[in-house]
Amino acid sequence: MRQSKFFMPTLKEVPADAVAKSHQLMMRGGYIRQVTAGVYAYLPLAYRVLRKAQNIMEEEMANIDVPEVLMPHFLPATLWEESGRLPKYGPEMFRLKDRHDRESLLGPTHEETFTDLIGKSLKSYKQMPIALYQIQTKFRDENRPRFGLLRGREFIMLDSYSFAATRDQLDKQFDDHKEAFEKIYERCGVKVLPVIADSGTMGGKNSTEFQAPAEIGEDITVTNESGTYSANLEMAKSIDNFKPEVEEPKSVEKVATPGKETIDSLVEFLNVPATKIVKSILYIADDQKVLVLIRGDKEINEVKLKNLLDCTELREATSEELVEITGAAKGGVGPVNATYADKIVADDTVKGLYNFVVGANETDYQLTNVNLDRDFKVNEFADLRIAQEGELDPINHEPLKYTKSIEVGHIFKLGTYYTETMGADFLDNNGKAQPVIMGSYGIGVSRMLAAVVEQHQTERGIAWPKSIAPFSLHIVQMKMNDEVQTKLAESLYAKFSDKYDVLYDDRNERAGVKFADADLVGAPLRITIGKKAADGIVEVKRPLDEKASEVTLTELEALVA
Ligand code: ATP
Ligand code: MG
Ligand code: MG
Ligand code: MG
Repeated sequence: MRQSKFFMPTLKEVPADAVAKSHQLMMRGGYIRQVTAGVYAYLPLAYRVLRKAQNIMEEEMANIDVPEVLMPHFLPATLWEESGRLPKYGPEMFRLKDRHDRESLLGPTHEETFTDLIGKSLKSYKQMPIALYQIQTKFRDENRPRFGLLRGREFIMLDSYSFAATRDQLDKQFDDHKEAFEKIYERCGVKVLPVIADSGTMGGKNSTEFQAPAEIGEDITVTNESGTYSANLEMAKSIDNFKPEVEEPKSVEKVATPGKETIDSLVEFLNVPATKIVKSILYIADDQKVLVLIRGDKEINEVKLKNLLDCTELREATSEELVEITGAAKGGVGPVNATYADKIVADDTVKGLYNFVVGANETDYQLTNVNLDRDFKVNEFADLRIAQEGELDPINHEPLKYTKSIEVGHIFKLGTYYTETMGADFLDNNGKAQPVIMGSYGIGVSRMLAAVVEQHQTERGIAWPKSIAPFSLHIVQMKMNDEVQTKLAESLYAKFSDKYDVLYDDRNERAGVKFADADLVGAPLRITIGKKAADGIVEVKRPLDEKASEVTLTELEALVA
């Protein structure tokens, strides 16, 4: 590509709202332009980077045998009614009506669309496991779109959805995706930490975020020194969440506990400020088991509880009793943790649980065998104690470290939530209908590009990883009216263009302008053709080199190859 024909509208001044380095560089370099808040045009430079990153993604997804599709952006609200998410999704959803007044929306994510497709297409366990993905624009009316491509209202996502007949198949699909995603990040030159994240509704390590360390990051990744532990801050808000994975979960049981007060009265009674959680405790009152999370002042609340339960003895359950009573594995995330949840989304039997009681929300009933990750979705950890930097991790007992980071991907074992609510069944090998077991996997493609820039920049520009650089070679000719220079530049341009994507700066511009622009293009190798062209000598420079160095044409060939 000849730069005289290229479109790269550089800016001298950075717009005032561009705080993030990646946003500044991409604006200055003419990579992107804002069309409206959080909505960007990808100009040629950015689009080239995007296409290269997408190619890598396509290769890695093909490697795990996942075919690519393209779903519509425009979706009927009915799909989201079926899944029950329509009222829950909130103001981030762009909603619209068509001319017949039918409720519609612009897809913020596509679980429903894929579940619907698979539910209507798959009949038998023999057709599984299967997964499908797309690379597509998503729409979310973010409260605060900012930092350029890092948080847009329209952004590009790779989203993949897996469908399995068994948990084992799901586990394999999850692992495959995790591996493929890690390769994608590596090949695109993004350093990421896979971290434990809020797991939604199933047990075990079923949700992982990929966090790219960067100062501008809105998230905080908590790690230990040796890298054996990492979690996002939400998960680190309760040090108890650091505990190892629980055993295969059992199901929640509703058990009668006659004589106990209603949950409502417990709630009222223990109503203390939400800010000071002491710890979660399973209490044994006389020989009755009561699950209560004590907040605020432990002593006072113990006394109150005792009065309320009208018992002579009130003591904490031992860990053995806890295991026995609740069915939670030793050292696992126990049932009382479930009571941490301020807002709990659960199935109907446990709906309306209060934050410090695991109960059936019915007079004289309690729940046992409760497991946080599996049985309740914890939406807010806001009132939990935050594990402080320096505190010891539960695995190697090393000090915890905080790192600011950007969430560039998120993978989930979803289970059967969508397939059950939307009726996506298959016939198992006994001919019995079962809900398909799902996983979903997302990479923020456009956000990832910005994350690359955050991680690879120089004082004056971008140092693109080779794999996704907009151009792999940048030939810069100093004087356009110098015939020797033109001849050499043209011949190198023609030759290298066979194998590489070359940008040839053939503009009548001052050297200062050309170099400044070249820093923004950030090609892995810049070849400057100047005064010594006649002697067969050119200058080469990589973005991170302090200065250019002279090489002969023979040396250049070796360097480029
Ligand atoms: P965040 O916590 O940053 O709002 P999220 O958890 O809401 O992200 P997911 O629903 O997990 O996002 O979507 C998958 C991926 O899409 C994220 O890991 C992120 O990389 C990307 N993503 C999400 N929201 C945006 C956005 N507004 N702009 C750009 N990329 C985004
Ligand atoms: Mg979000
Ligand atoms: Mg997130
Ligand atoms: Mg996420």
